[in-house]
Amino acid sequence: MTTAALVRDLGVALAPDRVRAGALELALYERDASMLTGQASVVCFPTSAGEVSAAVRVCRDHGRPFVPRGSGTGLAGGATPLGQVAPVVIVTTKMNKILEVDSEQRFAWVEPGVLNLDLSTAVAHLGLHFAPDPSSQQSCSVGGNVANNSGGPHCLLYGVTSAHVLAMEVVLADGSVVVLGGIDPEPEGLDLRGAFVGSEGTMGIATRIAVRLTPLPPCVATLLADFSTIHDAAAAVTGVIAAGIIPAALEMMDATIVEVVEAYVHAGFPTDAAAVLLVEVDGLRGGVDVCTSDVEAILKAHGAREVRVAADAAERAAWWKGRKSAFGAIARIAPSYYLHDCVIPRTRLVDVLDEVGRIASSRDLVLGNVFHAGDGNLHPLIVFDRRAPGVLEKVHEAGRKIIETCVAAGGSLSGEHGIGIEKREAMDLVFTEVDLEAQKWLRDAFDPEGRCNPEKILPRGGSRCGDISSLPPGAWV
Ligand SMILES: Cc1cc2nc3c(=O)[nH]c(=O)nc-3n(C[C@H](O)[C@H](O)[C@H](O)COP(=O)(O)OP(=O)(O)OC[C@H]3O[C@@H](n4cnc5c(N)ncnc54)[C@H](O)[C@@H]3O)c2cc1C
Repeated sequence: MTTAALVRDLGVALAPDRVRAGALELALYERDASMLTGQASVVCFPTSAGEVSAAVRVCRDHGRPFVPRGSGTGLAGGATPLGQVAPVVIVTTKMNKILEVDSEQRFAWVEPGVLNLDLSTAVAHLGLHFAPDPSSQQSCSVGGNVANNSGGPHCLLYGVTSAHVLAMEVVLADGSVVVLGGIDPEPEGLDLRGAFVGSEGTMGIATRIAVRLTPLPPCVATLLADFSTIHDAAAAVTGVIAAGIIPAALEMMDATIVEVVEAYVHAGFPTDAAAVLLVEVDGLRGGVDVCTSDVEAILKAHGAREVRVAADAAERAAWWKGRKSAFGAIARIAPSYYLHDCVIPRTRLVDVLDEVGRIASSRDLVLGNVFHAGDGNLHPLIVFDRRAPGVLEKVHEAGRKIIETCVAAGGSLSGEHGIGIEKREAMDLVFTEVDLEAQKWLRDAFDPEGRCNPEKILPRGGSRCGDISSLPPGAWV
């Protein structure tokens, strides 16, 4: 059937003005926040689970795959439309209502398009918040958080999204609607909720999500420590954790990032430092006081030149604004960036950061590091101008080397951004053929015809495909 017929039927199922197929609209939805592009046939904007189900059924009747999409801030190409036939992109941004808040049992049912920060803001007057706090929290959706099992600075203490999702209503690839998990602490049966969280849109579309709400900490202290070498800062990270302290957040920024952020946000970061650590401890006043002085002592013992404790909420907010604005700030250096996401054992921070620096400098690439140091979750950030001849190949090659270095250090492929298209051909660096087959069976159980977000996560050539440079043709722009 033709695309015109598809548009017509989707228009009947939803409403004609929420079905788009113009060239500009398709271009806007050809990729997420990564550099990986695809091609959509149609983009549609349902407003309810019923409409999502109807749209999915129309896709099935027309033999079209579909791609769930939230705010499109993903960095691994998860919401980039790929497929043998151009998929329909089903966008949840119009499903943005908080449906129910139970402050006694501390949970909320929300639609998937609710923005992460909007949820926390809406329940703050109850002394509650949604703990996962990606740096993109002003714009990313709870549905996207669930699909990517997203993390954030405060996930070191509070745990990533999977620890904060109780249940979800899902529209499966045949249009049927199921509920996975439940509000009860121990719902019966297999943990299908657990399987769905982190499935990157390959197992269906979440249309309602029950999230756990966490009390706001009664007391918070934020410390900013600066170091004259990255090595000292990395050793201090290991030192804090080795002392048995798990701060709420433990973030690192190197000189490249600090300089550009300071020029952009004026957060009060020391621009002559080789590295800055942002450490936050929270809890009851007495415990926070003890923890703050213990952390300060450890940071100084590892060579911190100065350790400041935020004087008030405004200074704390300025430091966090600086940290969370880093990816925007780097536009002052060059117009394009490639943000990596790998995890390594914390004890390998020093040597892996050295090697990552060498990988970039040997290719004349500008690289900054801003990352969740306490989790060992690196975010090497390569900054470049994609119009420069040959630069994309160098960026791509450096990215591949960074992945290999992290895996060789005993790490894993992704801490929070997911696999998407970006890392699917690297999957066999960490998973055996049997592992990959098992993942495929699970996915097939949810979507036997492979119509839900095809060509994501699993290597294209099956479990034996191991060439991580073989991204889809034209995928890099
Ligand atoms: C500046 C910046 C900073 C970032 N910082 C962080 C960070 O600190 N931590 C972190 O974890 N990530 C971070 N990210 C990555 C990104 O914001 C997260 O992955 C986020 O959760 C994606 O949400 P989204 O709504 O934009 O999802 P999209 O990009 O729209 O989609 C992401 C994936 O989820 C699927 N999906 C979306 N909605 C649904 C649904 N309702 N049902 C099923 N599948 C769905 C899509 O198919 C896709 O595979 C950052 C990104 C940017 C640009």
